Amino acid sequence: MKDVRQSASTDNATSQPGDFSDATYLLHSGPAPSRQQGVLNPPIYRASTIIYDDMDSYVDRRSRFFDGVMYGLYGTPTTQALADAISHLEGGTGTVITGSGTAAIACALGAFVGAGDHIIVADTVYGQTRNYCEEILTRFGVEISYFAPDQLDRLEAMIKPTSKLIFLESPGSQTFEMIDVPRIVTLAHKHGLLTAIDNTWATPLFYKPLREGVDISIQSGTKYLSGHSDVMLGSISANNRPLFEQLKKTAGSNGHMASPDDCYLVHRGMRSLDIRMARHQENAQILMTWLAQQPEVCRILSPAWKDDSGHAIWMRDFSGASGLFGVAFHKHYATRLPRLIDSLQLFRIGSSWGGYESLVVPVYPKPARHYPSDRLENPVIRFHGGLEAPEDLIRDLEKAFHVLRNSSGSE
Ligand SMILES: *Cc1c(COP(=O)(O)O)cnc(C)c1O
Repeated sequence: MKDVRQSASTDNATSQPGDFSDATYLLHSGPAPSRQQGVLNPPIYRASTIIYDDMDSYVDRRSRFFDGVMYGLYGTPTTQALADAISHLEGGTGTVITGSGTAAIACALGAFVGAGDHIIVADTVYGQTRNYCEEILTRFGVEISYFAPDQLDRLEAMIKPTSKLIFLESPGSQTFEMIDVPRIVTLAHKHGLLTAIDNTWATPLFYKPLREGVDISIQSGTKYLSGHSDVMLGSISANNRPLFEQLKKTAGSNGHMASPDDCYLVHRGMRSLDIRMARHQENAQILMTWLAQQPEVCRILSPAWKDDSGHAIWMRDFSGASGLFGVAFHKHYATRLPRLIDSLQLFRIGSSWGGYESLVVPVYPKPARHYPSDRLENPVIRFHGGLEAPEDLIRDLEKAFHVLRNSSGSE
């Protein structure tokens, strides 16, 4: 009874090793085992009803809304253990957990904009972010503008008296353009705008946007945090208490939550985040190096690739790269790429990424974009370098490229 009433954030004072590296922190995050009979991992607390000792404490239950356990919708100690771990990694004041990354994006936007407001969104955002802006926010009277990540000198002129928030994603979805985030934060501060970023690609292990002054950092925990392709979850981390409270209230009003079982699984996945990300990064470099040498390939799209136009910003701001990158092919091969994709065996075809397995998908970003880009002119296959032995992945590519070379262009 007593421990259910205590929030995870007050229960774990003896096991939040604040000054360890992220890798060590992730292994030791969570409530103190001594408070749960020595059980090492956070218990899965399933709950809708939370009961109270007496009427006074029930009447006072709202005081637990932000940090305690009040009603199942707002999370249990299992949710809080995960939220604390993500907050720590992002360097945030507080984190709200949602049922998916898409819900996290919708909740973050819904928390801070309303009728008559204007928001400025990177043209390279995830497709559902754009859909939420255009299909939902415009219906509620929010005006949307898009900016091109490579034309930041035009951004200031887009800011209006009604502008409220700038939404970022770096690198961009499908085409991997880097955004000069510190430059945008400076501009946003000058004009009193909020900034939010979708930080899923890098994970908070490799990029900490809140430290650069960004207000809100979003994760699709479905991807690397979970890491095993079996959970949907999202997180929104805030840089200060008022932002966190506004997010938590909005999540509550919208009914956003994730089940305690899924929170447990994502927290469990995060134990190995550091070692998985190192392997994803290493495998992606090996794959990019091999792919760049193939005559059919005209360009690698990844800030971690030495020739990429975003490489300098990535080197400056990020401490690593994930396993996701794009490969642009000469136009001539467009009709033959299905043969390549179908010939791969270890690289399965499927959306999502950040799990243990290698994946490929063809991407078609151009129709949604407002600005032209030389990244949109060639057929692109998106690769996710999984955790397999790299020599097996290369052998798989060799076989599939062999099929591509021996196929005719007419199919
Ligand atoms: C997958 C993804 C999302 C959406 O997350 P879900 O958990 O699938 O809803 C948001 N942003 C980025 C960059 C993603 O890759």
